[in-house]
Amino acid sequence: PRIVEVRPTWAAIDASALAHNLRRVAAHVGPRCRVLAVVKADGYGHGAIDSARVFVEAGAWGLAVSLIEEGVELRQAGVRAPVLVLGGVHPGSEDVVVHGSLTPVVWAPQHLQLLAAAVRRSGAERLPIHIKIDTGMSRLGVLPPDLSALLDYYETHAASELHIEGVMTHLACADDPDDTSTSRTQLERFGACLAMLGERGIHPSIRHVCNSAGLVRFADAHLDMVRPGIAIYGAASSAAVELAGLRMGMSVHSRLLGIRELPAGARVSYGHRQTLARDTRLGILPVGYGDGYPRNMSGRAEVLIRGHRCPIVGNVTMDLSMVDVTDLPDAREGERVTLMGRQGRQAIDIYELADWAGVIPYEISCGISKRVPRHPQ
Ligand code: PLP
Repeated sequence: PRIVEVRPTWAAIDASALAHNLRRVAAHVGPRCRVLAVVKADGYGHGAIDSARVFVEAGAWGLAVSLIEEGVELRQAGVRAPVLVLGGVHPGSEDVVVHGSLTPVVWAPQHLQLLAAAVRRSGAERLPIHIKIDTGMSRLGVLPPDLSALLDYYETHAASELHIEGVMTHLACADDPDDTSTSRTQLERFGACLAMLGERGIHPSIRHVCNSAGLVRFADAHLDMVRPGIAIYGAASSAAVELAGLRMGMSVHSRLLGIRELPAGARVSYGHRQTLARDTRLGILPVGYGDGYPRNMSGRAEVLIRGHRCPIVGNVTMDLSMVDVTDLPDAREGERVTLMGRQGRQAIDIYELADWAGVIPYEISCGISKRVPRHPQ
């Protein structure tokens, strides 16, 4: 057996849930709107290659990654759908982009210069690009006052090599249900930029704005394509902006390594931060912050055993955590433990875990580390 399969801690990936979620988003936005499935950061921890295949099969037009390396990984796995590289190009990477038929997001004349030169060197056909406009995120993208100069550069130096297939922006506050005006302002600025492109005779066929929260909250901003990430994995940045009817793509499980009986007054784990108030059966769980189970779970989180919630006791360590199983006298070594997911009628969802850890849901699934094998559910 492969050694990773020996490990009794694993993340179960439910491909049918991922496909269902993609179709759920597609149904929500309607047949005239494409879906770009965001699979950066190893598919939000679900495995980029397998997830990408599922999403394309379920109807995604294309995929989005952050890094060129992530795009190359998909190409090497035989994924042929369009792959948008959200993080853009940097000097030295342009030939890899062209060779991999990746679709770069660009926002500076230098990007156009690098890519046009790479296309000329390769003799390839015109490369599709997407122009990103910074309408208020203050991160990536050309600022609206600089758009005209970028287009000037494009028309004079890069129009034979590059083709503006798309134009996009990114909403900063889409996931805040109390803030509509920031998104509205961004959409207005984006509209003005689209008008400027139109006046210059540039009509990109794919205009796109919405991430998961945006596509739920701003139906008039779906335009030609939406870019869901967290939704297609079954979640949202908070339950308040979740698309109804999603299914969680990942659950995380382990098995008790052993159980020890300890007297009241015994102190547990590094720093002796927790003292047992009663005689306790303490389960030893082979999961720690080295697996992406955050140390902030210490003394706060619960896990499911035999369908019951059991508290984590003391500090989570790199490889191990302790769990109170006193109320489950039948619990045994090898007992299945669910850290995220369902057992019977009880469930621990990603929002609860994120709350315990003081992070956002994205950090939970992205954070499940490489040493936790992903198994099909
Ligand atoms: N679009 C861009 C530009 C992004 O950076 C991301 C992710 O951060 C997404 C879309 C997907 O966002 P979400 O996972 O919130 O749907």
